Amino acid sequence: MRITDIKYLKFNNASKLSKFFDPETTLCRFTIHFNKEHMEIENAFQNIFPELKQIFPNFADHECCHDLDLKSNSAYNIVEYGNYMDIPHLLEHLTIDILSTIYPDRRFSGSTCQYEEAQNKFDIFINVKNAQVSLFAFHLAWSTISSIICKQALTRLFQKVVQIASFIINYKGNNIHRNEIVEQFNCSSPVIEQALLLLEEFSLISEYTEEQVVI
Ligand SMILES: [Zn+2]
Repeated sequence: MRITDIKYLKFNNASKLSKFFDPETTLCRFTIHFNKEHMEIENAFQNIFPELKQIFPNFADHECCHDLDLKSNSAYNIVEYGNYMDIPHLLEHLTIDILSTIYPDRRFSGSTCQYEEAQNKFDIFINVKNAQVSLFAFHLAWSTISSIICKQALTRLFQKVVQIASFIINYKGNNIHRNEIVEQFNCSSPVIEQALLLLEEFSLISEYTEEQVVI
């Protein structure tokens, strides 16, 4: 998967994409291209979705809305489209799930649109609070999905990484002792290292040492 464009925009027609977007919503639009092999995975939804639900249990609370459902004002659990939409659609939901863990008091919504001229090209729209955190969540979501696709045994690590990231992003103060993170999450050094590496990569922390994290 390649992100070929990222834009932050407010646009008046946003409510046409999701009933939860209003004209004042700032949306992040990720334009992405998928590799052919990712698009042609057989039974992608059936293989990936159950594992995602185990790692991210809040998936059970997600709702999908379609044009038809908007008319009846009803919503359903995450929908399998049974075509090329499935993996980008799961990527949208997982990004929202991660953002909701980081900002539990805020409601996030998304919409995934496929281009007519290229079946492997999509726009994923998500309402945002913080641009860098959105980018972090999007990359973490894709790392999780691609590790499930590659059948790597690392997936549970991502759940912890999200929890640690949430703790650090919402921390009141500029410095955290690493021991505080260890005690809070009762997890091993490699997991904390992975979380800090990602947070530093996306400029959500300034730096970290063996002893402390500078936000
Ligand atoms: Zn959906």
